[in-house]
Amino acid sequence: MQGPGYAENDHVALPADLVTIARAGGRIVSLGTLVDAIEAHRADSGPRDGDATLVALTFDDGPEWDFTDFVHPVLGPQRSFANAMQDFRQSAYGSAQHGLAATSFVIASPEARRAMESTFDAEYTFLSAGVLNDNWWSPAIATGLIAIANHSWDHLHPALASVAHSRQARGDFTQVDNASDADAQIRAATDYINARTGGHAAPYFAYPFGHCNSYLADDYLPHAGRAMGLRAAFTTEPEVIDGAQNVWRLPRFTCGHHWRHPEELAAILTAPPKKTPANTDASLARRER
Ligand SMILES: [Zn+2]
Repeated sequence: MQGPGYAENDHVALPADLVTIARAGGRIVSLGTLVDAIEAHRADSGPRDGDATLVALTFDDGPEWDFTDFVHPVLGPQRSFANAMQDFRQSAYGSAQHGLAATSFVIASPEARRAMESTFDAEYTFLSAGVLNDNWWSPAIATGLIAIANHSWDHLHPALASVAHSRQARGDFTQVDNASDADAQIRAATDYINARTGGHAAPYFAYPFGHCNSYLADDYLPHAGRAMGLRAAFTTEPEVIDGAQNVWRLPRFTCGHHWRHPEELAAILTAPPKKTPANTDASLARRER
């Protein structure tokens, strides 16, 4: 968050966006329900959701502020995403959203998270010491509102002294192009998150920086990824899901980047799909560092 306004602060935007989604006729669902709908559309079987636009909410990088209110040193008190969702659930629009849920994509490596806390780019975001801890993961899962999923081992983050990659590729996740690097970034992260949550890692992966490549989407994830229990992976391509996409490169719109005003979000949600699917589904991300 870099400012007090909607376009600069996801903690201001999310409460407004929940109402915008409901007013636009969207049905907020978990990633599990979204992927179920894609698979049913593909198989041309199973129950259809009629005209409902399904909307899945995701948050990237996993500061505890996804779950816990906090006080920003300049901007003052901020409502967490989880509590914004709880507030929404008490409202007239929110009480009708029976599937209200979100997914936080977290970075597994404790060392990487500690390094990121001390080296963030203040022009782009705000972090503080300890905020990328993993103590909030299980309590968040226990609410049923926030699932915890895989955003890689160390994000190949440019600030790290070393990263889990054979060629030390930083800042470019497309360089994860072989099984041992993919195991180091994806398998190790799922294992860690499961170890910290008693086996409750949600079976989804979000590509760091949104960077996807053919090796991961067409080879590693459909085989090794599926074998380790993963069901889908998400880029940050701003596209509506129409059921035709590869589940290992599903698009997401990002707040503050692909929409910067509630009316722009409403336009995304009500835009006619390029094809003619049974479901027009949007997956919305809050942030990507
Ligand atoms: Zn990220």
